[in-house]
Amino acid sequence: MGVHVPEEYGGSGSSFFNAMIVIEELAKTDPSVSAMVGIHNTLPVSMIIDYGTEEQKLKYLPRLCSDSLASFCISESGAGSDAFALKTIAKRDGDHFLISGTKMWITNSGEAQVFVVFANADPSQKYKGITCFIVERSADGLTVDKEEDKLGIRASSTCQVHFDNVRVHKSAILGEYGKGYKYAIECLNAGRIAIGAQMIGLAQGCFDQTIPYLQQREQFGQRLIDFQVIFEIGFEFLIHKCSGFTTSDCTS
Ligand SMILES: Cc1cc2nc3c(=O)[nH]c(=O)nc-3n(C[C@H](O)[C@H](O)[C@H](O)COP(=O)(O)OP(=O)(O)OC[C@H]3O[C@@H](n4cnc5c(N)ncnc54)[C@H](O)[C@@H]3O)c2cc1C
Repeated sequence: MGVHVPEEYGGSGSSFFNAMIVIEELAKTDPSVSAMVGIHNTLPVSMIIDYGTEEQKLKYLPRLCSDSLASFCISESGAGSDAFALKTIAKRDGDHFLISGTKMWITNSGEAQVFVVFANADPSQKYKGITCFIVERSADGLTVDKEEDKLGIRASSTCQVHFDNVRVHKSAILGEYGKGYKYAIECLNAGRIAIGAQMIGLAQGCFDQTIPYLQQREQFGQRLIDFQVIFEIGFEFLIHKCSGFTTSDCTS
């Protein structure tokens, strides 16, 4: 859960590249587990590594490498691809902020203990008011409900998260005030690589399950793999995946 978290904060001290390999390998067997680990590592955990204060890193990273999951909360019903259209606000109240709004489709939110939340602290500045906060699940006013009934990756929770005047101290700001839009762009770029790793692992897992079946199942008096169309699809896949393969490798 902390593949690229430095060892001094309880992580494995490995690289972002290796985190992608972990995500790919998990997806070969269970894309839900891969989604859980992928989002956790590449979005909320990465944000705390990259933008957290020393105090925030010491407070959250050891937990997030051991017994707690994290969620990344940016999307809303009217803010999907156009993430900066978000309507969640963070109203200043002295040294505190009051966060109000509803986030949608939040991965890991069914179990997460820590939420990295994007809210606009100054809507007059439009997207330049977007600020990122770290919020604990135990915060008064934070509720998680309506788990989406998804077609796939069903063991990965995807829920709505409501913030009803959730009071957080200004020390909960992650990075700089008003820089949330910049952090979101950078993190989502990394998140897309993780989704790619997940999809490659899933495709490989399907392929690995399919080949033995095609070699064993017989119809019309021959193995399925011996039908020309099936052989050619498999051959194309191998050519794209492993440029070192030869025709005889595929035949065998
Ligand atoms: C399983 C799952 C997990 C998720 N987890 C999280 C999470 O952990 N945290 C979080 O914050 N969000 C999460 N999301 C939300 C996700 O980020 C959004 O679904 C995504 O940003 C797309 O938004 P949308 O679904 O509203 O689609 P829309 O933005 O409404 O897009 C609908 C379609 O229109 C296309 N489209 C949109 N804009 C353009 C354009 N300018 N040009 C051409 N085509 C366009 C899109 O490509 C898409 O095909 C999750 C979603 C899913 C399905």
